[in-house]
Parts: sequence; structure tokens; C-alpha cells
Amino acid sequence: MHVIKNIDNLRLWRDGLKEKGETLSFVPTMGALHDGHLSLVKEGLKQCDNVIVSIFVNPTQFAPHEDFDSYPRTIEDDIKKLQNIGVQAVWLPNIDDIYPNGAQSDIHIDGVSEPLEGEFRPHFFDGVATVVARLLRLVNPTVALFGEKDFQQLQVIKKMVHQENIDVEIIGAPIMRDENGLALSSRNIYLSAEEYKTAIQLNKILGEVANDQLDESSATQKLLNVGFDKVDYCTVRNSETFELEPPNRVLAAVWLGETRLIDNMAIR
Ligand code: AMP
Repeated sequence: MHVIKNIDNLRLWRDGLKEKGETLSFVPTMGALHDGHLSLVKEGLKQCDNVIVSIFVNPTQFAPHEDFDSYPRTIEDDIKKLQNIGVQAVWLPNIDDIYPNGAQSDIHIDGVSEPLEGEFRPHFFDGVATVVARLLRLVNPTVALFGEKDFQQLQVIKKMVHQENIDVEIIGAPIMRDENGLALSSRNIYLSAEEYKTAIQLNKILGEVANDQLDESSATQKLLNVGFDKVDYCTVRNSETFELEPPNRVLAAVWLGETRLIDNMAIR
């Protein structure tokens, strides 16, 4: 596996694939890799001849009060995991390669980026759209894979590549969960044993909304009753526009102490 640390080497490696006529899947991540990330990589291996994974904790998607400094960084373990599943390359971008003129967002996506996550983390999607556009332009992959765990992010990215004229196919992949149904997340390591017991209720309560056993406001009340400290939203929306109609996906963001969890589910 190539461990690429600068863009000249990235370009050389990428040009080599083009000369051989080989296709490339790209999985952008912030590291602290778990089976959710690895499921995207495995799908990428099926889609194309090669897979490249980037590991970059993107400063522009964190607000000053958020966990950029303490975000888990486990680079040696991450590299081993990627090697074990047969990835061709991992790219560890340098901050100046991505932000040569300073770490600032310069892309905004209207509509889909505004409700829900956009309301509670107003800086977030501009940062995500900016970094993903820059990563995609540097890697120039055939396809790029993103998890449905971050469902609104997936739709923002689809709209961004259209708006920015980036020639890539965006593929969404299903949410990977642990044995108790908790959606895997790099931030789950912040949860205490007690908090974990509450966290696993999130998926169950979303399931009750998806099955029409609970409406939005009873689900919000139930989330608080089972021990979540705060509910940013728990709402049924349209999965492409995030407007109220026609509703086909339940999405939630909740807090346990300092940890914010998100999850979502299709409505059958
Ligand atoms: P992150 O490192 O959190 O930025 O995530 C990198 C990619 O992995 C994003 O496309 C996420 O949506 C995806 N991802 C994170 N957690 C999961 C999960 N539990 N299941 C599937 N994909 C995931």
C-alpha cells in the first residue's frame, strides 16, 4: 500500500493509473477508522480497480467550540486496517495542500444544506463542501463513496459536485451499526458505559418512528425520557430536499453529555 504524504506523489501515482487505463474509487475520511469506513472501502474495491482513502481532520467543518483538537487521531492503526483489506493507497494530506491560502470555506450549497444539521452547525456544510471539492479535484477519482450515516451530507455532496462541475460518480453506502444497533462513529469512543446504554436507544426509537408507532413529538419526548440530554431534532423529512413533504426518512441529532450523535432511517 502506498502511503502518500504530498500532492506531487499523489499526482504521480494518479497519472500512473491513468496510463494503465485503471479506474479509481475514493473514500475521504477523518480517520479513527471503524467498520463503517471499511464498508465504504470494500464497496470501493468492488466498484473500481483501485481504492485510495484520505485521512484528514478538516478544520473548516468544526466551529471554534467543537472538538477539532480532541478529535480522535489513530493514524498508525488506521494504516494497518487499510493495509489488511487491500487498499492500494492512503493519502495523508497536509493542511497547506488543501488550504494554500488559509483554512477557509468558499463553497455554499443552497437548499439541502440549510435545515437540520445546517441549522444546528451553520459552519459545517460549507466546510464539508469545500474540503470534499478540493479533495476530489486533487484525486480525480472515477467514483467517490460516502456513508448514509451522514445522510444530509451525502445529498449536499451530490449537489456540490453538480454545482462545481466535478466529473465523478457519488455513491452512497448503508449505515454500519454495532451489535446493539448503534451507528458506528469515530466519536462513539467518547461515550461512557452508562451513556452507551442510552445511546443504543436512538436506533430503536427511530425504528418506532419509521414503523409509524411514534410521531415526531412523542419520539422527541421518549428520547429525553430514556436519558438523552438534548434533542437538536428528531424529524421526518424528504430524503432529497429535507423539506417536510413528501416524508420518507426520519433523521435525528441528540446529545449525551458533550457527545453529539446523529442517525437516520428510511420509512417503510
Ligand atoms: P468521517 O471520518 O466521520 O468523516 O466519515 C468518513 C465517511 O465514512 C463518511 O462518508 C461517513 O458518512 C462514513 N461513515 C461514518 N460512519 C459510518 C457508518 N457507521 N456506516 C457507514 N458509513 C459511515
